[in-house]
Amino acid sequence: MFESLSDRLSGVLDKLTKRGALSESDVSEAMREVRRALIEADVALPVVRSFTDKVKNRAVGQEVLKSVTPGQQVVKIVHDQLVEMLGSDAKPIDLDAPAPVCIMMVGLQGSGKTTTTGKIARRLTERDRRKVLMASLDTRRPAAQEQLKVLGEQNGVDTLPIIAGQTPVQIANRAMTAAKLGGYDVVMLDTAGRIHIDEPLMVEMAEVRKASNPHEILLVADALTGQDAVNLATAFDERVGITGIVLTRMDGDGRGGAALSMRAVTGKPVKLIGTGEKADALEEFHPSRIADRILGMGDIVSLVEKAAQEFDADKAAKMAAKMKKGSFDLEDLAEQLKQMEKLGGMSGIMGMMPGVGKIKKQLDAANLDDKVVKRQVAIIQSMTPAERRRPELMKASRKKRVARGSGVDVADVNKLLKMHRQMADMMKQMGKGKGLFGKLMGGM
Ligand code: GDP
Repeated sequence: MFESLSDRLSGVLDKLTKRGALSESDVSEAMREVRRALIEADVALPVVRSFTDKVKNRAVGQEVLKSVTPGQQVVKIVHDQLVEMLGSDAKPIDLDAPAPVCIMMVGLQGSGKTTTTGKIARRLTERDRRKVLMASLDTRRPAAQEQLKVLGEQNGVDTLPIIAGQTPVQIANRAMTAAKLGGYDVVMLDTAGRIHIDEPLMVEMAEVRKASNPHEILLVADALTGQDAVNLATAFDERVGITGIVLTRMDGDGRGGAALSMRAVTGKPVKLIGTGEKADALEEFHPSRIADRILGMGDIVSLVEKAAQEFDADKAAKMAAKMKKGSFDLEDLAEQLKQMEKLGGMSGIMGMMPGVGKIKKQLDAANLDDKVVKRQVAIIQSMTPAERRRPELMKASRKKRVARGSGVDVADVNKLLKMHRQMADMMKQMGKGKGLFGKLMGGM
């Protein structure tokens, strides 16, 4: 998602931090570039305007421009303002109501509503230990109810038995009754979608709402549709009332405008983001982490959370300790490469690591796909254990041997060693830092 915006903003801000003193016109010039970058990212114009005005007002303040590090301070102001624009605090799904708590899912057809319903139900079941009942209210598309049932079976979540011929309101009523009788904590209603918003859909949503009295009404919107998603949220909110938004397809190469403007335009929080087709490709929307990601500071907290879901705790703790000590060796790299697939591939991981934007570009340029990852693991496996722990032992003759052993060129071996060096250096730096990463590691 935010790649090109991230590149642009990091570029502008890098320039600012490299200079000693800043004048008001330096800041104005930088803000013009920030403005252009946000507009290109498809952020709603009023949001862009308000953003740059606020940053400029704070940045040209006496204490900033006269400070020892004006550039860094401007970066901090941009960061803070981004966080504010994104909604400040994370707003998780609210289940604080008498059981069964009803979550009504609304949105257009194809937005990912059913998939997201399944993802949320799975998470509430597995992570939060809630007893969840899902029901499809989509009586229009014959396969819709069946689709949800299959999702439920795949993810170990109960679905309301299908009874042909019932109206959405009847199904909603039946779901609420079944949930009360069955001792469920949460009921998820997957409502029908349409290609476009139309009057009958809005009427149906209002009726379902009345019948089920949902505690959360989540609009599922496709992030790739940019400002259309924002307009959709506004329309749904006016007619049905929504409590939050789930943006899907955040794994796509959209420009990010929907995620960036949603909160500021609609006043409703983005609660979750969908990051893939798989049942666990769902993340909480943390404004500060997203801002970190956009400004090239990475998102180490999300990365570690994701890793924690995949790694066992022992491995994760060991890895954290190694990262902290800066003793990240080739064994660890091999381990990471192997886990990479699970964590959403190389670009998924690298995109979340602080300061990796530039390295990631090199990796992309090196065409680092899964085949390459396999080859890299093979290279590491061809080394002796001592070499894996101390890569500096790899002299020319050994590199040749290892290259032959793993069926690659010496250049590939060199590339791998270089990548490892860069990652290890970066981790060492992060380990020393008292920033987000330092805090995080302290807490682990
Ligand atoms: P619905 O009509 O709104 O219920 O949409 P579906 O849940 O059937 O999803 C439509 C398609 O989008 C399916 O192929 C999903 O796998 C896909 N999809 C849903 N969420 C995401 C996401 O976050 N990322 C990606 N890449 N695909 C998604």
